Amino acid sequence: MLGQMQSQPLLISNLIVHAERHHGSTEIVSRRVEGDIHRSNWATVARRSRQVANALDALGLAFGDRVATLAWNGYRHLELYFGVSGTGRVLHTLNPRLHPEQLVWIANHAEDKALCFDMSFLPLVKAVWSKCSTVKHWIALCEADALPADHGIPGLVSYEAWIAGQKDSYVWPEFDENSASSMCYTSGTTGNPKAALYSHRSTLLHAYGAALPDALGCSARDAILPVVPMFHVNAWGLPYSGAAVGCKLVFPGPALDGKSVYELIEAEKVTMAAGVPTVWQMLLGHLQQNGLKFSTLKRTVIGGSACPPAMIKAFNDQYGVEVLHAWGMTEMSPLGTVCHLKNAQLDLSPAEQMAVRLKQGRAVFGVDMKIVDEAGQELPWDGKTYGDLLVRGPWIIASYFKGEGGDPLRYDEQGRGWFPTGDVAVIDADGFMQITDRSKDVIKSGGEWISSIDVENIAMAHPAVAMAACIGMKHPKWDERPIVVVVKKPGAEVTRAELLQFYEGKTAKWQIPDDVVFVEAIPLGATGKMQKMTLRQQLKDYVLPGL
Ligand code: AMP
Repeated sequence: MLGQMQSQPLLISNLIVHAERHHGSTEIVSRRVEGDIHRSNWATVARRSRQVANALDALGLAFGDRVATLAWNGYRHLELYFGVSGTGRVLHTLNPRLHPEQLVWIANHAEDKALCFDMSFLPLVKAVWSKCSTVKHWIALCEADALPADHGIPGLVSYEAWIAGQKDSYVWPEFDENSASSMCYTSGTTGNPKAALYSHRSTLLHAYGAALPDALGCSARDAILPVVPMFHVNAWGLPYSGAAVGCKLVFPGPALDGKSVYELIEAEKVTMAAGVPTVWQMLLGHLQQNGLKFSTLKRTVIGGSACPPAMIKAFNDQYGVEVLHAWGMTEMSPLGTVCHLKNAQLDLSPAEQMAVRLKQGRAVFGVDMKIVDEAGQELPWDGKTYGDLLVRGPWIIASYFKGEGGDPLRYDEQGRGWFPTGDVAVIDADGFMQITDRSKDVIKSGGEWISSIDVENIAMAHPAVAMAACIGMKHPKWDERPIVVVVKKPGAEVTRAELLQFYEGKTAKWQIPDDVVFVEAIPLGATGKMQKMTLRQQLKDYVLPGL
C-alpha cells in the first residue's frame, strides 16, 4: 500500500520560492570584489535568479548542461546557485586557487558550456579562455560599464547587461529530483581530480540535515557568515540551508583577512560563521593583537581539517564563542559529523566537556558511519580502536562524475555500499568520532601508529606557534619517525629544544617528534588545507638527527 501524501520532487527551486515568499525582506549582504558593501534580500535574489533562468534559456543551453562559476562568496554567485540549478542545468563551481592548467583540465572535463567569473579573475580568464574548448559563453560578474574595452574574450558580456533585458517572471520546471544540480571537483592525492555530482534530492536532504539544531543549527534569527568558499562544496551547503530557514546571509567576498572578517562580523551582527582553521587563525590573531571582542557572534563551525584544541579553547574561554567542530568531505556534500554534547555530558566538568568537544563529533541523521579493519570487519566503538572510516547516506556519492576511478564503494554482507573516506578514526561508545589522521598521513613507527594531528595539536598549543605540520620521515629502524614543521607567530620566539620540551608529559615519549624544522610558511592547498605532499617534496633532502 502506498502512502497518500502529495508527491513533490525535492528541487532547489523550492528553496528560493520558499525564501522569497516567507523571508523576502531578510537581508543578503556581500562585500564585493570592488571592496564596497552591497545589500540585497531573499526577494531580490529570487527575482534576479529568475532573470538568470530566462537568460540561460535565451542562450539555448540544454537541461543538464554545465554552467561554471569562478567567483568569491557574494550575491551574484548566490543568484547563480538558484538560477542555474533551478532550470535543471548544473552549477559547476570552479576553484580559482587552482593552477590555471588544472582549471582548464577541469573545465574541459566537465564540458562547461558557460563560465561566469568575478572581475578579479579577468587576468586568469584571459590566460585560459582559448583552451576551454567547450565554453561558448563568458559572463563577467559586474556592471556593463565595468568591462574594459580591450578584454579580448570573444562574446564576453557583463552579468548585469546579460540579465537586465530578461523578464523577472519564470515558472521553475518540475523534473526528477535525482537530476544533477551542481558539481565540485576534489583533488585526489593521485591522478586527475574527480567530481562529486550532487542531485537536487541530495542537496535538499543535506539542507534539512545541516540546519538541524545538533548539526549547524541554522534559524531565521541567525546572521550566517560562510567564510568557507561557495566554490568548495557549495560553502558547506549554507546557501541552501540559509534559504530553507530564511536567515540573513553575509558574504565576505575575497577579503578573508582577520581584520575584514572581524569588521563584517561586527557590522552585520553575525551570529554564526563557518570556515577552515587557517581562516580562524587569522581572525584570532587580529583579535589578540588589537584587544577586540565579539558582540554578536555565538558560534563558529570549524572543519575541513582538524581544529586545534588551542583554537577551540581560545574561542570558548577568551571570546565566549562556541566552536562546533565539524567533519565532512566533498564526496559527502559535505556534512558528516558535528560535535555537540549530549544531555548526560552537560554534567561533566568543563575540562571533561572540552575533551569531548575536541572530537569531530556525532553523525548527522542521514549519515551512517563505521570503522573497519583491513579485512573490512567492523571495529568496536570504544574510543580506542582505530580503523578506516566508511560512510553511507543519501548525500554521499555513489560514484564519481563520468565513472572516473571505477566503483569507489565497499560492499557489506547485505550488499550495501559504503564510501571509504580515506580517514582513520576512532568512535566512542556515545558515537563521537575522532579523526586520527588521513590514512596517507598517519605515521607508522615501530609497528605503531602516530597521529600527525595529535602531534600538530600539541605544537599549536605553544604560544609562539602559528602553524604546525607533522610528517613522517623514513627511518632505518622504526620505519618512520615524526618531525614537526613549524611557522612561528610574528615576533614570537621558541627554540627547537624548548618546543620538544613542551611535548614532555603531553604525549607518550615515542610519539614526541624527533625534530623541529622552522619554516617561513607551510604550503596551503586551494581550500586552505596544509599540503603535506608538497611539504614532503620540499623536505626531500632532510635527514633525521642522528642518522
Ligand atoms: P575535502 O573533500 O577537500 O573537503 O577534504 C575532506 C577531508 O578533509 C576529509 O576526508 C578529512 O581528511 C579532512 N577533514 C575535514 N574536516 C576535518 C576535521 N574536522 N578534522 C580532521 N580532518 C578533517
